[in-house]
Amino acid sequence: MLSTMQDVPLTVTRILHHGMTIHGKSQVTTWTGEPEPHRRTFAEIGTRATRLANALRDELGIDGDQRVATLMWNNAEHVEAYLAIPSMGAVLHTLNLRLPPEQLAWIVNHADDKVVIVNGSLLPLLVPLLPHLPSIEHVVVAGPGDRSALAGITPRVHEYEELIAGRSTTFDWPELDERQAAAMCYTSGTTGDPKGVVYSHRSIYLHSMQVNMTESMGLTDKDTTLVVVPQFHVNAWGLPHATFMSGVNMLMPDRFLQPAPLADMIERERPTHAAAVPTIWQGLLAEVTANPRDLTSMANVTIGGAACPPSLMEAYDKLGVRLCHAWGMTETSPLGTMAHPPAGLSDEEQWPYRVTQGRFPAGVEARLVGPGGEHLPWDGESAGELEVRGPWIAAAYYGGSDGEHLRPEDKFSEDGWLKTGDVGVISADGFLTLTDRAKDVIKSGGEWISSVELENALMAHPDVAEAAVVAVPDEKWGERPLATVVLKEGAAGVDYEALKAFLAESGIAKWQLPERWSVIPAVPKTSVGKFDKKVIRKQYAEGELDVTQL
Ligand code: AMP
Repeated sequence: MLSTMQDVPLTVTRILHHGMTIHGKSQVTTWTGEPEPHRRTFAEIGTRATRLANALRDELGIDGDQRVATLMWNNAEHVEAYLAIPSMGAVLHTLNLRLPPEQLAWIVNHADDKVVIVNGSLLPLLVPLLPHLPSIEHVVVAGPGDRSALAGITPRVHEYEELIAGRSTTFDWPELDERQAAAMCYTSGTTGDPKGVVYSHRSIYLHSMQVNMTESMGLTDKDTTLVVVPQFHVNAWGLPHATFMSGVNMLMPDRFLQPAPLADMIERERPTHAAAVPTIWQGLLAEVTANPRDLTSMANVTIGGAACPPSLMEAYDKLGVRLCHAWGMTETSPLGTMAHPPAGLSDEEQWPYRVTQGRFPAGVEARLVGPGGEHLPWDGESAGELEVRGPWIAAAYYGGSDGEHLRPEDKFSEDGWLKTGDVGVISADGFLTLTDRAKDVIKSGGEWISSVELENALMAHPDVAEAAVVAVPDEKWGERPLATVVLKEGAAGVDYEALKAFLAESGIAKWQLPERWSVIPAVPKTSVGKFDKKVIRKQYAEGELDVTQL
C-alpha cells in the first residue's frame, strides 16, 4: 500500500523562501577589517539572491544545470550564491582557493564551469589561470580588491553589484526534482586527481535538518554561528543552508582568518557557536594566551575535519568554551558523527565520550570492515575500516560532462556503501573512535600503531605546540613511527628521551614508542588546514629532516 502523504520535493528553493520570509530578520554579518562589519538581513539576502538568479539567467545565459563556480571567502555574497544557483536549477561549484593553481584549473575544466563568481581580493589567483579555463564565459567580481589585472581578458567581466542592481525581485523558480544536482565540491585529492562529489537538493535539505537537530549542532534563531570553516570546504559543513533554514545568524570572517582578527570578532560580535578545524583553534589558543580576549559567548564549538587533541579540548574548557568533536568527509556532506555524551553523566564521566569522534545520527548507517572483508562487532576493540551509507552520503563521483559517474572499488563497496578510508572502533553504545586514516596507520611487525594516539599524547606535553607522527620504513619491523614535533614559543629546547618517557607515562605501550624524532618549524598543512603527512614522509625519504635516533 502506498502512503497517503504529499510528495513535495525537498529543495534548496524551499530553504531560500523559508529563510527570507519566516526568518527575514536574522542576519549575515561579514567582517570587513574596518571599524564596522557589514550586516545584511536574511530578507535582503533572499531578495539579492533572487536578483542574482535573474542576472545569471537573463544576462549570463544560465538556463539549465550549468555549473556556476565560486572562488570566494565566507561572506554575504557567497551565501547569496549558495541560495540562488541551486534554486534556479544550476549547480553551485565551490572552488578551494588554497589549491595549487594547476589543480584548480583541472577542477574547473573537469566540472565545465561556465561562470565564476570571484572575490576581488582573489583576482591575482584567478586571472593568470583564465587562459587555461576555456569553459569560463563570464567572470563576476564581488567585494573589494584591485580590478586592474582584468584589463583585456577574454571572458566577459561583470561587477556583482552592477549585475544584480535593478533586477526583478521575483523569479520564475523551476519545479525541481529533489534528486537533481544542486552543488558540487571536489575532494582535496591528496592522491591522484581530485574527485567531484555532487550533492542533490534532497541531500542538502535532509543534511540541513540534521545539522539543526540538537543531537548535532542544534542552533536556533537565538544563536549566531561564526563560520570559520570555508564555504569551499564541504559547503562550510552545511552551515549556510542549515542556518538559513532555521534563522541562525551567521558571522562571516571573509579573508580575516588569522587568530588576532578572529579573537576580535568573537569578543565584539559574541557568537554563541563556531565551526572550524583544529588548526584554527590551536592558533586562536596561542593568540588568546598571549593577548587574553573574552571568548565565553561561544559556549559551543564544533571541531572536526581532523582529530581534535584532547589537550586542546581541556585548554578551551578552561576558557569557558566547549569543543564538540565531529567527524565527516566531503563525501558525507559532511556530517557523520558528533560527540555529545549520553545523558545523565558527570563531567568526569562525559570525558571519555567527548574525546571520541561521536555518535551517528539516524541518517547515517555505519559498519566496520576487517582486512578480510568481514563485518566486525561494535565492542570498542575490534578495529576496521569504517563504511557508511545514508541519504546525504555519496554513491559515486562525478565522471565529467560526457561520462558516467565513477564508482571506484576502493571507495564504494559492491553493495553501495562508502568506504571512508578511516580506521577505528565503535563502542557498544555507538560511539566511533578513529585511530587513523588507513594510509597513515603504522604497521610495525604485523601490529598497528595509531599515529593519532601518539600525536594526541605528544600534544599534551607543555612544550609541544603540534606533533605529527608518520610511518617510515624499518628493516626489522617493516614500519616504525617517526615523531615530528613543533615546539611552543619559549620552550627551552628538546629532550627526546624526556618526550619518550612522557609518552610512556601517558599509557602508550613500550613497543609503540617512537625511536626516530625530529623537531620541525611547523607541521605542513593541506589546503583545508589538515596535517599533510605525505609531505613529511617525502621530506624524510629525501633526507630533508634532521632526525635523531634514540
Ligand atoms: P575531507 O573530505 O577533506 O573533509 O576529509 C575527510 C577526512 O578527514 C576523513 O575521512 C577523516 O580522515 C578526516 N577527519 C574528519 N573529521 C575527523 C575527526 N573528527 N577526527 C579524525 N579525522 C577526521
